[in-house]
Amino acid sequence: MPDQECLICSMEESDPESRVFADDLWAAEVAPGFEVPGWFFLRTRRHAEKLTGLDGAETETFGRHAHDLVSAVERVTGSPAVYLLSFGENYRHFHALVAARGDQVPAGTRGWGLIGLLPEGRDLPAAQALAGKVRTAYEEILRGRERAGGRVSGPKSG
Ligand SMILES: [Zn+2]
Repeated sequence: MPDQECLICSMEESDPESRVFADDLWAAEVAPGFEVPGWFFLRTRRHAEKLTGLDGAETETFGRHAHDLVSAVERVTGSPAVYLLSFGENYRHFHALVAARGDQVPAGTRGWGLIGLLPEGRDLPAAQALAGKVRTAYEEILRGRERAGGRVSGPKSG
């Protein structure tokens, strides 16, 4: 049973429009309260606390999922930087914020400062529209790897 107090567990009930993917162990969605276009939470499906709370299968697959999600966000947004952040402080349930940092973000709001975009940057319809594009790109990445016989495919050119 999910912990009713846990925001990350509550994402099991995410609007399908907010979802990039969900498989047996991992899911990624636009997170409630963090609906900045290009921001997604990559999270474990079960309530596992902190990176060190992941089991063997989750630990082994985290890198693959982070790589695929960041690749999909890069492809769709063309952002020069896509951040991967995990604090594990306010929400102990393991998750990582994957956040595109576009060219339009001023120098003072890059790096740690990006979180400062949250109050004015939330836009649910735009975040969900982008999630749909990232979902398509993510599915293409998985299909590309299947065609390559399980090998890691490089970034698509052009
Ligand atoms: Zn949880």
